[in-house]
Amino acid sequence: MEQPWKNQKSNNNKEHQAFIETQNCCALCGNELKITVESYLCDYNLREEAFCERCEIKTRIKDHKLH
Ligand SMILES: [Zn+2]
Repeated sequence: MEQPWKNQKSNNNKEHQAFIETQNCCALCGNELKITVESYLCDYNLREEAFCERCEIKTRIKDHKLH
């Protein structure tokens, strides 16, 4: 079954990733953060993780509801 929100959701993911790439520096050391965004297609959630490879910490993990 084709679901009309599927393409829109993909576009939103790209925009979201572009957005968080503009604020991707570690608050502790200023190093560039490694951003990962995982989407969970089954329950409409996005998980955003920002990881500093220098400090070896995850500086933030956010869950986004898409609906
Ligand atoms: Zn850092």
